[in-house]
Amino acid sequence: EFGMFGLLMGLSGGFAASVAIGRSRSLGKQLRVAMRSGQLKVVYQPIVRLSDRRQVGAEALLRWTDPTGKPVSPDAFIATAENEGFIGQVTRFVVTRVLEELHDELRRRPDFQVTVNVAASDILDNAFAPFLSARLQAAGLPPTCIGLELTERTTANSRELGKAIARLREAGHKVYIDDFGTDYSSLSYLSRLRVDAIKINRAFMQALHDQSDQDTIAPQIVAMAEVLGLSMVIEGIEEEQQAAYFLALAPTALAQGWLFSKPVEAGRLFAA
Ligand code: C2E
Ligand code: MG
Ligand code: MG
Ligand code: MG
Repeated sequence: EFGMFGLLMGLSGGFAASVAIGRSRSLGKQLRVAMRSGQLKVVYQPIVRLSDRRQVGAEALLRWTDPTGKPVSPDAFIATAENEGFIGQVTRFVVTRVLEELHDELRRRPDFQVTVNVAASDILDNAFAPFLSARLQAAGLPPTCIGLELTERTTANSRELGKAIARLREAGHKVYIDDFGTDYSSLSYLSRLRVDAIKINRAFMQALHDQSDQDTIAPQIVAMAEVLGLSMVIEGIEEEQQAAYFLALAPTALAQGWLFSKPVEAGRLFAA
């Protein structure tokens, strides 16, 4: 299963490394098969306005159930797809599926926005913006229907990334920095990359709960977003108390979390 490469690594003494690489290789291979054989599906988590809880959009999230029926966490397989250079195929799969599943509803509600998670490499790919506009045009939908959430896992050339983000925004897509506040580089992205909004990571919910000193950071982030003219989506709200805290802090923010809804299948997204 580890192949020649793993074997050579093993012989050269890097046994632990060869096992890790072997596993990640086979995960990558399995994921490619999964994409073709119907093991992947997209679920949608509603995004609401915090003030009146009206649903204004949803985030598309990938789900993989392996052939034994076991769910594989996106945190594991997305990283593999990025590392092995086929995240672009995964992203296109998601965009295609979103438009297949939701085009009728989106045509009825063109103000509704579905956000798709993308990697920096997608944004830097010159063929990505044309792909999006071709698919949207074919579906008869405006570019505002698809927003893009960027989590920076790798350090990309920020000048190039900034230009590519600007082109996508000019084309009509909203661009979000996802998981904002999870690492120290977040602040530096914002000074270099012009985006529409930040999604405030659910680590802050945990912090509120723990009453740790991070709850003095949330107000600073909200104030900073306001100064920079950025909209906000508060992620991971599970309890009324958290909703109330952020409503007081950021009355115009959008929100997402189990309190409002868990991710649901396409057919249930507009059911309520
Ligand atoms: P993310 O983009 O930050 O997505 C939010 C994650 O938080 C999702 O986990 C969602 O199910 C979870 N979540 C939402 N509300 C709550 C809540 O109230 N409490 C808790 N505990 N969790 C909540 P999920 O679906 O497991 O995805 C994990 C990450 O994997 C995503 O984080 C995203 O970075 C990545 N991912 C998922 N689907 C895709 C995809 O299609 N493409 C790419 N590139 N990445 C994806
Ligand atoms: Mg996201
Ligand atoms: Mg997030
Ligand atoms: Mg995340």
